[in-house]
Amino acid sequence: MQLVFEQIRTGGDRNFGYLLGDREARQAVLIDPSYAPELLVQRAQEQHLAVSHIVNTHGHPDHINGNEQAAAMTQASVAAHPAVPTKVDLPLVGGESLKVGILNLRFLHTPGHAADHLVIFEPAYGLLITGDLLFVGKVGGTRSDEDARTEWDSLQRLLAAVPDDATVWPGHDYGIRPSSTIALEKKTNPFLLCSDVDAFIRLKTEWADVKKRYGLK
Ligand SMILES: [Zn+2]
Repeated sequence: MQLVFEQIRTGGDRNFGYLLGDREARQAVLIDPSYAPELLVQRAQEQHLAVSHIVNTHGHPDHINGNEQAAAMTQASVAAHPAVPTKVDLPLVGGESLKVGILNLRFLHTPGHAADHLVIFEPAYGLLITGDLLFVGKVGGTRSDEDARTEWDSLQRLLAAVPDDATVWPGHDYGIRPSSTIALEKKTNPFLLCSDVDAFIRLKTEWADVKKRYGLK
């Protein structure tokens, strides 16, 4: 088992952090350690992995609030969009890739929920870490119709960029299961089933009622 990939509950609002690494190269990154930096660092240490980077999907406090402690414990560099309100050692604006042993993390700029939002894709294993852009059965909240349009564009670019069998690993456990695939989301996620951006914005507006009707959390 060369791949190390752990989805870790970090507390907060059902937040997920991730440990992703190469066991043979003994290298790993932590993604959004947020409320549980000690826990993620401990899992890396237990598996004899050196943490090279702390990666953030976006700059919301519940995703970056563990950076400082995780960095102090590991001497890792913080890799995130330069607009993220934290110390950023490796600025990423999308289009970059980062090697972690045999893994090759590719970054895609996906604004909408947050202007500094990045999605991470590892093509060899088909891992897609979607942050708060795409959840299982949902998408990230937006503050205006303009942001919703931006998010729609990001989702369309994402769907065009990754294969259907990519697995989806979100920033929160908001769905009926903790992870999914792009194929399944295309088939079942009501926001991805919208025929155009206007239907998408309409569904966002009506979402509170839809949730109530189906008893969704
Ligand atoms: Zn967020």
